[in-house]
Amino acid sequence: LEIFGKDRRNSKGLDLTDIVDVEPLMDDLAKYQDKVWKAAPIIGGKDQVGMGQPATNPAMRLDVLGEVQEATQEQVLLATELAVEAYPDWDFIGGEARARYLEDAADALEDRYNEFMALLVREAGKTLSDAIAEVREAIDFLRYYAAQARAEFTDPIRMPGPTGEKNLYKLHGRGVFVCISPWNFPLAIFMGQVAAALAAGNAVLAKPAEQTPIVAYEAVKLLHKAGIPGDVLHLLPGTGETVGATLTSSEKIAGVAMTGSTDTAKIISRVLAYREGPIIPFIAETGGQNAMFVDSTALPEQVVDDVVRSAFHSAGQRCSALRILYIQDNIADTVIEMIKGAMDEMALGDPAKLTTDIGPVIDDEAKQGLLAHAHAMSDAGKLLHKVKPGPECSNGDFVGLYMFEISGANDLQKEQFGPILHVVRYKTRDLKRHLDELKATGYGLTIGVHSRIEGMADYIYANSLAGNTYVNRDQIGAVVGVQPFGGKGLSGTGPKAGGPLYMHRFAGERVLTINT
Ligand code: GLU
Repeated sequence: LEIFGKDRRNSKGLDLTDIVDVEPLMDDLAKYQDKVWKAAPIIGGKDQVGMGQPATNPAMRLDVLGEVQEATQEQVLLATELAVEAYPDWDFIGGEARARYLEDAADALEDRYNEFMALLVREAGKTLSDAIAEVREAIDFLRYYAAQARAEFTDPIRMPGPTGEKNLYKLHGRGVFVCISPWNFPLAIFMGQVAAALAAGNAVLAKPAEQTPIVAYEAVKLLHKAGIPGDVLHLLPGTGETVGATLTSSEKIAGVAMTGSTDTAKIISRVLAYREGPIIPFIAETGGQNAMFVDSTALPEQVVDDVVRSAFHSAGQRCSALRILYIQDNIADTVIEMIKGAMDEMALGDPAKLTTDIGPVIDDEAKQGLLAHAHAMSDAGKLLHKVKPGPECSNGDFVGLYMFEISGANDLQKEQFGPILHVVRYKTRDLKRHLDELKATGYGLTIGVHSRIEGMADYIYANSLAGNTYVNRDQIGAVVGVQPFGGKGLSGTGPKAGGPLYMHRFAGERVLTINT
């Protein structure tokens, strides 16, 4: 199970408290502040020419950071043809050769750490610490799947057999894989899907989220520069309704990996079921209705720290983020007061500043949806606390921070993908009922536990569907190869990203039997 083996090679990232890292970073961020970027379809290694639309910074809509050009229907079809032709050679060069390309790409990304951070800040509104973690995760995905390609996709396994018969078992790519990635991790999840698909021996058609195609464009350029052939990896920016729909309804594809909303996953599932052509795997990583349980044996200071990180950092825009905090009734008042204080301490604003804790949400549509929920909850008298964005936030898509009190998971209709926390005061005798209600939502992504009672964490683990359970810590920021990440039910199909089985879902098994 240890893909990295003893020699663990997670990227070390940058240290924002170390002047040696911070000084060059701030210089580079300033340098890239005015750069004009672009995103265009990349087909057969070549940029396609066409009309672009301006892309703007979510923290400051007046900041136009570049121009984005969507792929046309013809371009999608052309890329598909080229990928179909390129797949066999890519598959047959073997895992070792593919691993070397991906490792070169990881090294190149490490060399361009600050540049990719600058882009994540400007295109996706990432804070500096989030951007550091994201570049690091992308590097880790490249190295992790490369290591697995080398270990499992290079030499065939000799199976037993009678004398005179040779049986060889081998993992191969499946063909052309479609990778549909989200805006909340426009580099890490984009790179993770693409790297796993490529490492396993597939050709790839990558459709980045329409909000964040520029970082994907730069990532594909980097992969091509590292040696991945142009015909093996194509970039097709565009919307789900246009590019996504054409890709997923194609008879020529061999699999789809998608991270995004549960609703989108269901749409893709239906398209795949009804289209002509082979039955193919669908890997979906979707949303959550993630909870944390805090009992009276927990350490309040640590709880508050971990709640704030889990619920509000990244502006709550992680599928792992905390949505419902259950606090045992006898400590609830104290903990709620402390969370209010911590919320007031949060600095909302320009994510490019070292002092900013919380940046914007991704766009106006997301902002309006979150505010509609917040207003409905406030009108129903459920508001415990809110932090309004200040004047420095007035030109971007900021929503502020909210904490509401509800009576249980049934009070919420759906996941709220932003900095909105819901609190439930629970009595020990109701713990099982609350866990049952959570299960009944159908989601199973992350769950947190803060308790020093022996057996409490095991009890919650056993009575929840969560794919990732975190005890006495925050519940975000799964590390590649350390906390393989992903859920079940409405939260996704599995397998877990950054885990030992992920690449297998991108692979097909073949057996060669030779009578010698
Ligand atoms: N892997 C991320 C985490 O552990 C979340 C991924 C997502 O939001 O899709 O926080």
